Amino acid sequence: MARYDQILRPLDLGFTRLKNRVLMGSMHTGLEDMRDGFTKLAQFYAERAKGGVGLIVTGGFSPNFIGRLHPLGAQFSGRRHLKSHQLLTHAVHEHGAKIVLQLLHAGRYAMHPLAMSPSGIRSPISRFTPFKMRDWQIRATISDFARSAALAQKAGYDGVEIMGSEGYLINQFLCARTNCRHDLWGGNADNRQRFAIEIVNAIRQRVGKNFIIIFRISVLDLVEQGSAFSEVVSLAKRLEQAGVTLLNTGIGWHEAKVPTIATQVPRAAFSWATAELRQHLTIPIIACNRINMPNVAEQILASGEADMVSMARPFLADPEWVNKAAAEQPDAINTCIGCNQACLDRVFKMKRASCLVNPQACYETERVLEKIATTSARIAVVGAGPAGLSAALNAARRGFKVTLFEKRGDLGGQFRLAMTIPGKEEFAETIRYFRHQLDAFNVEVKLNHAVSEEDLSGYSQIIIATGVQPRRPQLQGMDRANVMTYQAFLEQRPPLASSVAIVGAGGVGVDIATLVSETEAADFYTEWGIDRSLTHEGALTAPQPAKAARAIWLLQRKPGAMGKGPGKTTGWIHRKTLQHRGVKMMPGVQYVAIDAQGLHVNYKGQTRCIPAEQIILCSGQESVNDLVAPLTQRGISVQVIGGADHAGELDAQRAILQGFETAAALTECP
Ligand code: FAD
Ligand code: NAP
Ligand code: SF4
Repeated sequence: MARYDQILRPLDLGFTRLKNRVLMGSMHTGLEDMRDGFTKLAQFYAERAKGGVGLIVTGGFSPNFIGRLHPLGAQFSGRRHLKSHQLLTHAVHEHGAKIVLQLLHAGRYAMHPLAMSPSGIRSPISRFTPFKMRDWQIRATISDFARSAALAQKAGYDGVEIMGSEGYLINQFLCARTNCRHDLWGGNADNRQRFAIEIVNAIRQRVGKNFIIIFRISVLDLVEQGSAFSEVVSLAKRLEQAGVTLLNTGIGWHEAKVPTIATQVPRAAFSWATAELRQHLTIPIIACNRINMPNVAEQILASGEADMVSMARPFLADPEWVNKAAAEQPDAINTCIGCNQACLDRVFKMKRASCLVNPQACYETERVLEKIATTSARIAVVGAGPAGLSAALNAARRGFKVTLFEKRGDLGGQFRLAMTIPGKEEFAETIRYFRHQLDAFNVEVKLNHAVSEEDLSGYSQIIIATGVQPRRPQLQGMDRANVMTYQAFLEQRPPLASSVAIVGAGGVGVDIATLVSETEAADFYTEWGIDRSLTHEGALTAPQPAKAARAIWLLQRKPGAMGKGPGKTTGWIHRKTLQHRGVKMMPGVQYVAIDAQGLHVNYKGQTRCIPAEQIILCSGQESVNDLVAPLTQRGISVQVIGGADHAGELDAQRAILQGFETAAALTECP
């Protein structure tokens, strides 16, 4: 029996067959809204189809003008749209996969003033108060869904996915939170579900029996006045009767104050909820959220929690995910680490998505690695942090002979420190991936090798990726034994004192605060108030976070809100976690001195002593580039990348991208 037998098992849908149990979940990449985006999008999907996935769901397309996510948002509602969509369906079918179009009406999440919803209640994450839909508008919207589905069929799609979760229009009809109507479309659960059922009925009538209809159902709303689980079950049964082929699951509205996909969320954290619903159904159901490796997917399927698994971001990270699982090479998978930095954080800024660990994602036609003709060119890469790893691997992929030098005993640089932060354990997967791939592409790796100028003779090109080191502010008392940089702290792990001050509240300061405030007492579900008994509306109970076991102060000099460093989709999780645990935030401080009493600061016009027994410096970084000047003076040309190039606003996304671009631009004869 193959190791991932369940994943690779075909799924017979009666009128059609999926070649395996893996669905690539819907992702809005930003290409959908771009002028020349569809050619790029076709290549993006083609790579994933080639990579073995059974069924692809497109990003969300609105069935009409009003339902677009933003003024220039994607819409699929007329014959004029057919041609560009045919590019997508052909590209996917050519590689033996199937593709369905997602129909998404944003409702009150639309970022434009024409937004509509069952009731005129503004979402806490939206600037626009929606219009309350009239009866005729509701009926017209149902027809629009059906017309778009029929067009999708014409464009060659194998089906449609109706977006009924995450708090979009259909979900807004389903819940009392957003539906206060007293007509046919509101009031009791039957009426609130009418819109969803009528959409499915109308689509089935238009497309006939042999067309996949997936309904994405919100199993856990995770908002107040969300659906009770009994309502979720009754809706699922009615959808089944109305002719839905597959039920996909959705977890949490966008406005939910519970993390559902970030790296802090345990792997497969919500598959139990899919399993609860599955017991009531005869049609196949799909599990999703934080499934990123084959063993996780296999376990969900083998234990009968679901019939298929959906992964979205993991296919940004690695288009070949399924083929690698089929080849029983999980270590070759470039794993999605759930950081959201290059995908969701960019999409929310209306930029094209990509992936921190795979800069080629959504840039398949632009970020191309061309093979070189000869194999004599030798490249030295100094430093095996994210920038150096990326440069070395991608140069080797092109055919260069590469030597990678690292002064420490292991790969990863600062990323190696990041993976020791609770909730960032996934970051270790990136280092594992690079280790595996460097080996596969015959990169010579020299660990424990602090490079000097002399080591670098005989190479045709030299890439300096020596990264960063922690900044030590000039402050009286800095040399005391209880003051350490975050790097020394993470490497040495001294026993934690009962009071800790953290100097600097950028990404690293917040991470260190998360680490020192962690307790064993609360599990993920208790800490965030997720009702596993499924007896509360929206599956939400009061969060019960455990307070930190020590006094912790997080300090920064800037006034205003703290912990703004990490991205939009994850920053709030960090801030809430620290609030839950009682970490004291002190913006706008001026550091005065450190002595036996603690850290003295000026705060709100007064001098105060923070009685911290331990002080951890997270005050940014400085470039390590001491090799550059001597090499340049000797007339040797070098390329400097990552933190060695510029320490300000450095993150792994920039480091990996710069490593990639440098490797892609290398010439055989410099
Ligand atoms: P580095 O990671 O500093 O790597 C440089 C490497 O060069 C090191 O391994 C070093 O030992 C080696 N080196 C130096 N001199 C020599 C020499 N002479 N010879 C041989 N080798 C040498 N970024 C994110 O994007 N998202 C996050 O969530 C995130 N979290 C973080 C959490 C923590 C706790 C920390 C510390 C960092 C985090 N970062 C995060 C930042 C990210 O890790 C860095 O931006 C990234 O590692 C920088 O990559 P780099 O390759 O430029 O440098
Ligand atoms: P950073 O984000 O630049 O933060 C540095 C902190 O140090 C700031 O709070 C700054 O605030 C303070 N500081 C700067 N100079 C100082 C000085 N001389 N004395 C005292 N304080 C000083 O850097 P970082 O936290 O080290 O993070 C490095 C990179 O990794 C960042 O780009 C970050 O985005 C990335 N990262 C990301 C994540 C994530 O979850 N996405 C997590 C960790 C790291 P004041 O100047 O106001 O005091
Ligand atoms: Fe996953 Fe981060 Fe890549 Fe997004 S950017 S796909 S979360 S690894």
